This record gives sequence, structure tokens and C-alpha cells, in this order.
Amino acid sequence: MVTLLHLLDRWAFDELDRRAREQGWEVRRPAPLMRVYRNSNLGLCKHCLGEGFTRRGICHGCLGSGRGRP
Ligand SMILES: [Zn+2]
Repeated sequence: MVTLLHLLDRWAFDELDRRAREQGWEVRRPAPLMRVYRNSNLGLCKHCLGEGFTRRGICHGCLGSGRGRP
């Protein structure tokens, strides 16, 4: 059964998901209307070790993503 939420999810994300997969990015769908895109070519951020935060707040090296160039 196709729900309205499912239709909205597809309308909002199908094109973005397609572009992300074309570039080799990982696409996760943790919940309807939510996506996590990850470039698998990036490793853990060396400033925050993947946490996304430091003692001073959001990591300025990765802008909170926890990912960075190895
Ligand atoms: Zn970081």
C-alpha cells in the first residue's frame, strides 16, 4: 500500500538519491523524509576523530559531519 508519506518521500528525495548514487555516495534512509548521504571516499575527520564536535562545540574541520580527507 502506498501512503501519502511514501509519495512525499519519493517526490522529495528520488532525484537527490539518484544523483548521490551516480557519484558513488552511500544513501541511507533511517526514516521517511530523512536521508543520510555519505561520501565513502572520505575518512574520519582528523580534528574531531569522527565525533563532529570538539570541546569548543561543532568541529570547524568537518562542519559537524565527522568526515574528512584521510
Ligand atoms: Zn571534525
